[in-house]
Amino acid sequence: MSTTDHRHAYLSDVRPSPFAVPARVVVNEVGPRDGLQLEEVEFPTASKIAVVDALSRTGLQRIQVTSFVRPDAVPQLADADAVMAGIERVPGVAYTVLVPNLRGAQRALPLQADGWDLMLSCTDSHSTANANKPTAQALAALEPVVELAGEHGVELTAGVATSLGCPFEGRVPYSRVLQVAGRLHEMGVRRMALCDTVGVADPALVHDVCSRLRADLPDVVVTLHLHDTRNLALANVLTGMAAGVTEFDASVGGLGGCPFAPGASGNVATEDLVHMLSLLGVETGVDLDAVVGIARDLVAPLVDHPLESSLSRSGPSWTVHVPPLRQELPDPSTQLTGAAR
Ligand code: ZN
Repeated sequence: MSTTDHRHAYLSDVRPSPFAVPARVVVNEVGPRDGLQLEEVEFPTASKIAVVDALSRTGLQRIQVTSFVRPDAVPQLADADAVMAGIERVPGVAYTVLVPNLRGAQRALPLQADGWDLMLSCTDSHSTANANKPTAQALAALEPVVELAGEHGVELTAGVATSLGCPFEGRVPYSRVLQVAGRLHEMGVRRMALCDTVGVADPALVHDVCSRLRADLPDVVVTLHLHDTRNLALANVLTGMAAGVTEFDASVGGLGGCPFAPGASGNVATEDLVHMLSLLGVETGVDLDAVVGIARDLVAPLVDHPLESSLSRSGPSWTVHVPPLRQELPDPSTQLTGAAR
């Protein structure tokens, strides 16, 4: 039986989920930005374009291509214009870019991204460390960006960093999350990504914050951006779905990290997320083998460490191995009693 045949048999035996799962989930690939930005080595522009172009053909519906941050602040993304201009756009895929401020928005505008991803921190300490200003000022600075997007019909998604935990302040009260989200709502933003920036969120917290925010701002699409620092990202996806979330950020190969939290790992790996969802019968439209192949052939050779995704180590659950012809036992005469325990 080939691996493909086995997959079909395996997945046709998928049990109905014991809890509510959506029929379909949108996977938003953020590896080319959130991932590559935080890797230590520099990537040639052509490699970045090749990764995005390959991801475009896997069935992913959204890809965050790059970020228009100040080139002197993040030299890894200084080629944002060239990458955005160089990719081949596949119909049906939304290509978004991260736009941190008005200057970035003005740079991004002629490149005609399908959406702009804004970013601000829920906590003043993280906002100051990341953007040099407390949250209220960061929100005010986004106003002209929101206006510019409105004038040009660009869809906005605001990433609310540290909304599920802060490396400097720990737990963040829900009232604070609602205050920031409410301000974004007043400005006209209708898509918000709750970000577990350093991977400290837990399944109960994710369920609680997502359910409350969806109830408090019912016309906002709430998405999740989950770093997998403590191996809780997939569990958090489950409770996020139970709270009604149907869109998740993910990073091919599990690329990424966080400059302010030593040991923080990347976003939940795209291949691990798609794999789990396929076992739950949740449709993503993403070709898992293609993503695994991109991680192995295009991404792994670029970075200076093994990839963090489980699937890059082990393959999917339906992987079968050729059994050995007989059990290989050591010769008992050469064994020292108890020595090999
Ligand atoms: Zn992130």
